[in-house]
Amino acid sequence: MLHLKPEDAAVQNNPNTTLVTQDAPIANNTHGGRAKCLQRLVRMDLPVPRTVALSFETIEKIANGEMPDVDLVVDQFPKEALLCVRPSSEDPDWGGPGAVLNIGMNDKRFEKYSRTMGEDAAAALYTRFIQSYAINVARLDPDMFDDVEGEGRAALAETIAAYEHETEEKFPQSRRTQLAAVLRSMARAWSGTSARLLRQAKGAPTDAGLGLVVQQMIFGLGAGQCGSGVLQLVDSGTGAEQVTGRYLSQSQGRDALDDDNDALYLTRDPRGPSLEEKLPEAFETLKTYASLMRTRLREEMQVEFAIDDGVVHILDGVRVARSSRGAVRIAVTLAQDGVISREEALMRVPPRLLTELLHRQIDPSARRDIVGRGIAASPGAATGRLVFDSAGAQASAARGEPCILVRRETTSEDVRGMHAASAVLTERGGITSHAAVIGRGIGLPCVVGASSLIFNQRDKTITTREGRVFHAGDQMTVDGSTGQILAGAAAMQEAALDDYFQQLMAWATDTADIKVRANADTPADAQTARNFNAEGIGLCRTEHMFFDSWRLTVMREMIFADTSDGRRAVLERLLPMQRDDFTQLFRIMQGQPVCIRLFDPPLHEFLPMDASGQRELAEALGLPRSDVTRRIEAMREYNPMLGLRGVRLGITVPEIYEMQARAIFEAILDASDDGAPVMAEIMIPLVSARREVELVKNAIDAVAQAVRQERDVPFEYRLGVMVETPRACLRAAEIAPYCAFLSFGTNDLTQMTYGLSRDDAGRFMSDYVQQGVFDEDPFHTLDIDGVGELLTLGAQRGRQAKPDITVSVCGEHGGNPESIAFCRAAGFDYVSCSPFRVPVARLAAAQLAISDKIR
Ligand code: PEP
Ligand code: MG
Repeated sequence: MLHLKPEDAAVQNNPNTTLVTQDAPIANNTHGGRAKCLQRLVRMDLPVPRTVALSFETIEKIANGEMPDVDLVVDQFPKEALLCVRPSSEDPDWGGPGAVLNIGMNDKRFEKYSRTMGEDAAAALYTRFIQSYAINVARLDPDMFDDVEGEGRAALAETIAAYEHETEEKFPQSRRTQLAAVLRSMARAWSGTSARLLRQAKGAPTDAGLGLVVQQMIFGLGAGQCGSGVLQLVDSGTGAEQVTGRYLSQSQGRDALDDDNDALYLTRDPRGPSLEEKLPEAFETLKTYASLMRTRLREEMQVEFAIDDGVVHILDGVRVARSSRGAVRIAVTLAQDGVISREEALMRVPPRLLTELLHRQIDPSARRDIVGRGIAASPGAATGRLVFDSAGAQASAARGEPCILVRRETTSEDVRGMHAASAVLTERGGITSHAAVIGRGIGLPCVVGASSLIFNQRDKTITTREGRVFHAGDQMTVDGSTGQILAGAAAMQEAALDDYFQQLMAWATDTADIKVRANADTPADAQTARNFNAEGIGLCRTEHMFFDSWRLTVMREMIFADTSDGRRAVLERLLPMQRDDFTQLFRIMQGQPVCIRLFDPPLHEFLPMDASGQRELAEALGLPRSDVTRRIEAMREYNPMLGLRGVRLGITVPEIYEMQARAIFEAILDASDDGAPVMAEIMIPLVSARREVELVKNAIDAVAQAVRQERDVPFEYRLGVMVETPRACLRAAEIAPYCAFLSFGTNDLTQMTYGLSRDDAGRFMSDYVQQGVFDEDPFHTLDIDGVGELLTLGAQRGRQAKPDITVSVCGEHGGNPESIAFCRAAGFDYVSCSPFRVPVARLAAAQLAISDKIR
């Protein structure tokens, strides 16, 4: 307990060895989080043992061989007191050397304590100290004490003998010498290379400092009710209100948390005795202290305590460790209880944590039999039997059996299989490859670019580097959050979209000042987007609507039609289905904008590449197989992603866009019958020249005019351009006058700016990042320097030509917090991302707005 003496004043203000009192000059960034927290506990008048805090500067000096006046520290404590030293880094998550307890223990005190607390307790205390000193200070091998058997005086004598034999020195008896040695060893441990690398991996800066706190020991051992333990008011896993922790009689430090002991539960528990029953008064006192700490420190805290002869002492308080789910509930509850503000609650949840809540995850405590790794392309985890094609996935789904779809890479033909599978694993591809984009869109766990495994599609096997072979039907687990591929099934944790999550999201929407829309291709995606309160659809990739087997056949017929009239006739059959798709989207998104992108991919993506598919197509079209093969061959392009696709198709095969425009307009009218306002947007992909926009706009406006006349009802729509070629960014000033909006497709824009195939980048991206060629995968984190400059230029030039034009990003970067910061700073109106990333994006946007306000 803190008994101030007259000479304390001098020590209090000594910046190097500061007695922790209510107004001593102690700060997080000079003495560390633990020292600051202890000072706050002192200010609350809690029974905290006397403590001296050593500053970062002092510890750095000690590490460099400059020891401060240790007497100045030692003299702050009663002559007979034992001491402990604990680390105090600026952020507790950065860790630090382990605590050393019972400094000051020696032969004389052992005899004395034997008389007061009993010989066994005194021997346990001394033995523990010698072992800890030997390992942490003298750097001896922990195994050297393995032969020490039993307890009490004999075990102590053996421990001392082992120490003295190994060090060829007497065990130091002076408290001052012991303390100086402990301080030196802890200071040096912090400055070692491995400790530095470890904390840097946790986000610590290179020059992060270490403070140390020297505290008077409360024994937790001896006569009367003595012991130690930890207590917190919430469950770390769920964040629910629940007193949790353990208490162990006759123990010190965090002994109560060891697995193999007789620690008591805190509250009444059917599994065994509890502190509440054994020491009801102490239990109540602890609860009172804990809730005081919660309100005054404005955080859920874990209280480390000791009971000495029935009296409660608070040794330390640390922020309660928590799961992602726990983090959300704790933040929201603290705000609801008025302990912190809503803004603070929003700032306390790192956006990426939400990703874990939105998907099933492998239980963090589960055993993982990891057999390979790839790029974590779509979060969440799933277990299933291996299937190697879409037909297998669909058959598996029909049997109600979860499966993992394994492909070298996926194409449009695999979309149905992906819908049927529980997860997707591909050998090739990067973060914006087909499998990754579709996976994120439909919330399907996905690992791509798993090139450490050997995929054999013909034999239907996957072989690991070590030669383990997995066949079709074998069970595996794919973790799309970490990129791990595991043998067998792993224990899972369900997604947790509870009321606390919804509340946090509602606060985020109220706070954010850039809108977040969703990329949604199907009514199911749109429903997910709506459930996550997306503020509209920013990109509906219409080509995904053509992969239903019947539609695919009609599409192929259209591709094979020789004349414009022939194509029109076939497209007539697709029209009602497209109209129905759009009507559903409009209805689901009532009152929210829905941006529909006209057909984008090269046509031959819809054609079968294998012999059996071509034979089936020949049968369906009533054509000789050689004709089909020849036509497919003739359509082959050297570089299809830079070939006849997007607006180029719209100009050379205009019937497709005309059909789509008609379907959109008729859907606007059908969906408006329900009274819900429809805000339709039509987007032209892959534009690089003004004239492309002019031509397509004329054609679409003509269709709109025709539909207005036929139905005799007015309707509105907005036409815009997807800016995804560098040229469209540079020429935005001449494109903008034709558009209501410009939406930057940063996937293709990144691909074209770097001249780097988004589907092949996964092969060497990790080498590039490891060697520092790229800081990050630019398909994942927006390249602010290069692609970002094009975005800025495009937005500026577009706005100069048309000030009220809407500007947005709809590439995969739209869901990435760093990219959102860029878009917000550049004044973009919204970002659009996969439905499952909408909550992450909303929270990131809210945090940016709050940070700006408090700056
Ligand atoms: C883009 O290129 O950024 C985009 C959103 O379109 P897609 O991924 O369909 O090419
Ligand atoms: Mg694109």
